[in-house]
Amino acid sequence: MERNPDVLIVGGGLAGLTAGIHLSQKGLSVTIIERTSYPKHKVCGEYISNEVMPYLKWLGADVSFLNPVSISKFEFSSVTGHPVTAQLPLGGFGVSRYALDNYLCEKAKENGCKVILGEVKGVNFIDDKFYVESSDAIYTSKIVLGAFGKRSNIDKEMNREFIQKKSPWLAVKGHYKGEFPNDTVALHNFPGGYCGVSKVENDVVNVCYLADYETFKKYKNIEEFQLEVLYKNKNLKAILENSTPLFDKPLTISQVSFDKKLPVENHILMMGDTAGLIHPLCGNGMAMAIHSAKVASEFVSSYFDGTITSREELEKRYAGEWKKQFSQRLKTGRLLGSALHNKLLTRPLLHAVTSFPSLLPKIIKRTHGQPIDIAS
Ligand SMILES: Cc1cc2nc3c(=O)[nH]c(=O)nc-3n(C[C@H](O)[C@H](O)[C@H](O)COP(=O)(O)OP(=O)(O)OC[C@H]3O[C@@H](n4cnc5c(N)ncnc54)[C@H](O)[C@@H]3O)c2cc1C
Repeated sequence: MERNPDVLIVGGGLAGLTAGIHLSQKGLSVTIIERTSYPKHKVCGEYISNEVMPYLKWLGADVSFLNPVSISKFEFSSVTGHPVTAQLPLGGFGVSRYALDNYLCEKAKENGCKVILGEVKGVNFIDDKFYVESSDAIYTSKIVLGAFGKRSNIDKEMNREFIQKKSPWLAVKGHYKGEFPNDTVALHNFPGGYCGVSKVENDVVNVCYLADYETFKKYKNIEEFQLEVLYKNKNLKAILENSTPLFDKPLTISQVSFDKKLPVENHILMMGDTAGLIHPLCGNGMAMAIHSAKVASEFVSSYFDGTITSREELEKRYAGEWKKQFSQRLKTGRLLGSALHNKLLTRPLLHAVTSFPSLLPKIIKRTHGQPIDIAS
């Protein structure tokens, strides 16, 4: 097994797998180390903006093979309000992470990328070379891409700033059998949080919500929380009452942080959530993970073919492009998130959105990108 690839990628979620496909397509030797095996369910709303389509096509990843659901409408409701709807400018599709990550993993392997099951314990940079300690071996490489998601042991190991602070958010996701329109992604608010609902393949409904921990901890368990809090929104009550859960119990994650992160740390180019997680209410984290993998892969390819002549230039150009593409979207997401977390602002904000539905497309535009340009 190759223990000194050109590029080593820590984490095989959307960002890591996409970069793995791209860079192995460019003829580089690439190893991805992922700590859990495929296929697997992940806490995610599973609505992906169509902005990724040109790039997925360029990578040879044909997601239509997974029978995704085509989504063109956005529905929004405040805790008590009637839902308002807007057309999604680009639209998107619904597909489970169970199917998508597994498909991209197979695609990466087809391209010659090695995907290793193991947990990375630490990454050291010594004399212009990376030493990556994994549960199975020590790897060396010229380039390391960080794609280890929103919160990982590596963040602690690196003492990253965001990990020092507590985050008030926890997230819950379940798959259900029930009635829900195929073409809609909904965001229904409840006291202390908001819940996304949309369909994925096989007529399955994804229900995924972000809840304020302070509110959540007043209840015995998820069932009680849903009955007492989510049901306050009549739209959520109607959906959940008429659906049958497909998981034994919902998946949960805690300490979901939207704090600022840096796109380059310890010479590692960070991609996807590792560089910054956008509020899920913007529904754009997956597209950003895929897009950031494209940006990183292009610069890394230029580094290996000599167009970029130094590591310093590589890091500077990646950080600059990352900020250009994603900073504004993350900032808007953070602003919306804090407004919805502020009890005084939540009500007027939700009232404004439901009273002036024309605000919705404007918000969507500020948190989404254009179709990914593949000409460069
Ligand atoms: C509640 C919620 C709902 C969301 N809904 C949506 C939505 O509807 N649409 C959307 O576009 N985005 C959504 N997002 C955001 C989206 O899920 C993320 O932005 C996206 O998954 C980021 O992909 P990634 O590759 O960066 O990270 P991940 O997909 O999380 O991949 C990181 C990988 O790294 C692995 N890993 C971590 N540490 C190690 C280690 N030490 N060694 C080896 N492997 C490691 C993990 O096992 C994982 O597989 C949502 C997020 C949340 C929290």
